[in-house]
Amino acid sequence: MAGTTFALEKRIGRMSIAFSNRLYHAQVEPHLTYGCELTLDTGNHIDGLEKAQLGFLRRSLGVSRRSSVAPLFILTGIQPIRFTRAKIMVRYLGYLDNLAPESLGYAAAMESKRRAGLYHNTHHLRARLALAALPWPVDIGDTVDKMGSKEWCEDVIKRIDEAADRWIVSELRSNKRTRLLSLLLHADKSVFQKGRILPPVRLLNVDYRAAMASLLTSEHPLAIEILRRAERGRPAYPREARLCRFCNDAVEDEVHAVLVCKSNAAILASRETMWTRLQERVDLPAGLAGQRREDEQGLLDLLAFEKGLGQIGRHVFTVLETYREAAMYIPNALQQSVSDDVDIDMDDDTGIDDPAGGDNENAWEKELDFLLGGVA
Ligand SMILES: [Zn+2]
Repeated sequence: MAGTTFALEKRIGRMSIAFSNRLYHAQVEPHLTYGCELTLDTGNHIDGLEKAQLGFLRRSLGVSRRSSVAPLFILTGIQPIRFTRAKIMVRYLGYLDNLAPESLGYAAAMESKRRAGLYHNTHHLRARLALAALPWPVDIGDTVDKMGSKEWCEDVIKRIDEAADRWIVSELRSNKRTRLLSLLLHADKSVFQKGRILPPVRLLNVDYRAAMASLLTSEHPLAIEILRRAERGRPAYPREARLCRFCNDAVEDEVHAVLVCKSNAAILASRETMWTRLQERVDLPAGLAGQRREDEQGLLDLLAFEKGLGQIGRHVFTVLETYREAAMYIPNALQQSVSDDVDIDMDDDTGIDDPAGGDNENAWEKELDFLLGGVA
């Protein structure tokens, strides 16, 4: 289902994140949460569901299946499926608690709760274990006898939401690849917000939006990212050797490409246009008015200026495409001296790879054609 949704894009064009989020909630999430109030998440059956969710979010943002996990949730405002399932499970405990006291279901639930207090393997004990098994565990301690009461459910659901936020932030901060997004959220004094699509990926222009998503998820063609890991006979390069393909003079990272490098005419012109258009705005924040900053803070100020994101997105798109079209600079001396097995700055990569090949568009096309009854 997750793949089929995006096979539609071949016919209707790229969907906005808001639209794909609606499709997610309407068509995908119900499958990922079906029966979760009874099939409690204490085993590894959840792995496949999690993979399906990540696959959908990656397609929605147009990033690869190697991309880190935390930005997927932060950019789309969608909560990790494990936490969503846990909340539904808790609400179901509330439902059991509210059954008619004379009903068999109520008697069974009370017995399950009583025996859970004695560590017998009952539904309520497994619910407790499922909460403790969340990526950021929620320990309900000695409140087993209160499981299902209105106050208990409200409190635990609040704690599950907090646990989801904390897990996303810890994933974000522990990964060097997502430093830019981490700093941007810090400057914004916000973390993950359920239901909020991050402004840079709200742009209507598909290309600009995709460029912003690739910049913020570190899924761009710049050497800082591409040369991070060994590939096809080429070794991984230490950070200081991942030099700019245009000037060969500085590390080819996001700040250098977007704000600093002066060795490419197309990028220079695009940057000049961006600054000129931004300076024309009367609502320009103090950090962007006056001298043009060429450092990390300058880039953060730009990304945080919501009303200028159209201009900034256009420039980021031009920059990334210009870099993508030029051959990468690979220093020869290093190519011979660095071997594949040398451990150099192999930054954390918490991206969950999808060995099943979630990007098989042909398969999705076929699936879609089948669902549409073979309508071409
Ligand atoms: Zn350069």
